[in-house]
Amino acid sequence: MSKYFKIPFAYDQDQNVVDVLSAERGKTYKCSCGSDVKLRGGHIVSDHFYHITESKCSLESAIHKAYKSVFQKNKKIRLPFEINGSKYIEFDRVELEKKIDDYIPDAIGYVDDTMYLIEFAKTSYIGERKKKKIKKTNVLCIEVSIIKTVKSIHEIEKHITTDNFYKKLIHIPEYHEAKDLREKFKKAYHDLENKHRQKCFDLEKKHNQNISWYKHQIELLKSTIKQMSKSIENF
Ligand SMILES: [Zn+2]
Repeated sequence: MSKYFKIPFAYDQDQNVVDVLSAERGKTYKCSCGSDVKLRGGHIVSDHFYHITESKCSLESAIHKAYKSVFQKNKKIRLPFEINGSKYIEFDRVELEKKIDDYIPDAIGYVDDTMYLIEFAKTSYIGERKKKKIKKTNVLCIEVSIIKTVKSIHEIEKHITTDNFYKKLIHIPEYHEAKDLREKFKKAYHDLENKHRQKCFDLEKKHNQNISWYKHQIELLKSTIKQMSKSIENF
């Protein structure tokens, strides 16, 4: 038997998420783990769902799934901060766990043809490998850290659609123009660097002529290289 915890959310036969306020007593629901659950509670123990049979389940995954269901129903998110003068994004439609490239985000929201990725992070936040995959998709990605003490659908709705905390932007798409420009800049830099290095080398060979003048030229070229490499780092 899994460790006992009070399951706050379950699903009716139409896959709608229910909490202890919207569920009916005596009725059988499905837990996020797939097992049958029923509502119980009263004066001593607060209302909660319990597994009818033994099940491996966790509170975290129950809440994680509830976040996804609530988001799919509301199709709206309050951003962590204003983006392009907007605090919210309202989506035309939402898809859960749909694969794009080699990565499955928790949710994809669509506004016309523009995709947005939404991750509902558990304790294990988004790891480096996943971040790389998100970057590859080049789609705006918002991470919402699930609040593990939520007890009702209303609380989840409030967190997703009204609150700006426990949220962050994981990736902001880079436009092709900026990418191309950076590649061009990089190439120009490397060409120039090679040219300068060759010049340094030639000058060093001629050191027996006017040592101090050439040394000065060499230092100048070296400092140019240093400056350029700094500016490309900041680009
Ligand atoms: Zn369960």
